[in-house]
Amino acid sequence: MAQAPVSMSIRAEFEERFADSRAMFERSRQVIPSGITHDGRYLKPFPVYVQRAAGAHKWTVDGHKLIDFSMGHGSLILGHNDPEVLAAVQAALPMGTHFGAGHEGEIAWAEQIIRMMPGADRVKFTLSGTEATLLAIRVARAYTGKSVILKFEGHFHGWNDYLLKGERPPFEGAPMPGIPRETLDTVSVVPADLAYVEERLSQGDIAGVIIEPSGGSWAMVPLPEGFLAGLRALATKYDAPLIFDEVITGFRWAPGGAQERLGITPDLTTLAKIVAGGMPGGAVTGSAALMRHLEFSDEPGWNTTRKVRHQGTYNSNPVAAAAGVTCLRRCADPAVQAQCDEMATRLRVGLNGILADRDAPGIAWGDSSVFHLALGVASTDVHLGDVQYPSGMSAEALKASAQGPLTATLQQGMLIEGVDLFASGGLLSLAHTDEDLDRTLAAFDRVVVRMGEDGLFESV
Ligand code: PMP
Repeated sequence: MAQAPVSMSIRAEFEERFADSRAMFERSRQVIPSGITHDGRYLKPFPVYVQRAAGAHKWTVDGHKLIDFSMGHGSLILGHNDPEVLAAVQAALPMGTHFGAGHEGEIAWAEQIIRMMPGADRVKFTLSGTEATLLAIRVARAYTGKSVILKFEGHFHGWNDYLLKGERPPFEGAPMPGIPRETLDTVSVVPADLAYVEERLSQGDIAGVIIEPSGGSWAMVPLPEGFLAGLRALATKYDAPLIFDEVITGFRWAPGGAQERLGITPDLTTLAKIVAGGMPGGAVTGSAALMRHLEFSDEPGWNTTRKVRHQGTYNSNPVAAAAGVTCLRRCADPAVQAQCDEMATRLRVGLNGILADRDAPGIAWGDSSVFHLALGVASTDVHLGDVQYPSGMSAEALKASAQGPLTATLQQGMLIEGVDLFASGGLLSLAHTDEDLDRTLAAFDRVVVRMGEDGLFESV
């Protein structure tokens, strides 16, 4: 994509308003590469630095209050510092932060997950989503005795060596510095098209199929109608375990995640984010038959040849367990997800309305309680009543536009207005109010007008 013009007025105002963040960035980059600890936080000319957060808001070191749409990268469905979660964490802390042993909190946490997730017979805890997907594919490989993992174009499953492949265009050919070619060769990336999937599965070497059931990158790349049901049937037909990566959708799409909302049960599920109530934590759940590969057994040879190894100093840390179980008990009430969904729909409709009113090229879309925004793309396919799917755009085009050259200007413009987008989208929480949405829409309107005045949409 050609480099879009930069709005010098937005950039200059951003630099002026966030001068203290810039100073912190200058200090940070001396010790932390690019001054950030997650590539998703990269923003030119610098990212903002945050001092504290509460509810749906956070305050930068510059003293500016922001409406937060990153919400702990999606982990804070109840909002920052939800009083019940905070109380659970505060009660757990003085009891000790690491027992080096099992504890009741982890049992209660696993029991709660099993109550909520249709596909969960057993639970194993990890520290992150990246570790959860790594463990899930190891279990699938041990179960089948095969090597190749099938994944989909534009789907994100964390940053482990296997699953980073195929997330961004060009999906098969993107360079992956630091990851051995031999490792990449054990992962096959296909488009979300059942004909491709069956062709690949029929070759007989697939150990498991992993997918974001929302569509790639939390519904940025929607799945074709009926695709998941077809995938479920094919995975069963070819005996390849189906893994739903519900790191984002788990407890967000419904109390029992996308598998409950869509009525399709996977063989394994990966969880993180909401599962740990905003503390570090992840999990793998699944059918007893697959999860058996994480169990020790007296069966001769099992422990050395069949059992999957799993360690991790911080797995089911007692403080994370306390936050997780408290958060999940709240999320068992479908009113939580319904409220967040309703707000996200209002936001998507409102954003598309502004783009239409201002005759600005762009699309807002999404599903459940998330939204994505792409500016600078022709929006002829979008209908206001139908904001779920921008039709007629390939996975490649959707990813490229949502991560396009106008994103940084949009982010800067919104930050000036007191709104922190998560890249070019966001995730809603129970803590967001109607007033937050009104203010966000008013902010977006001003930024769109300003970008238009600065000529940023002229090449479209
Ligand atoms: N899977 C999905 C679907 C995700 O969205 C993410 C993180 N955004 C991960 C896996 C990785 O999780 P973590 O950042 O906890 O390693």
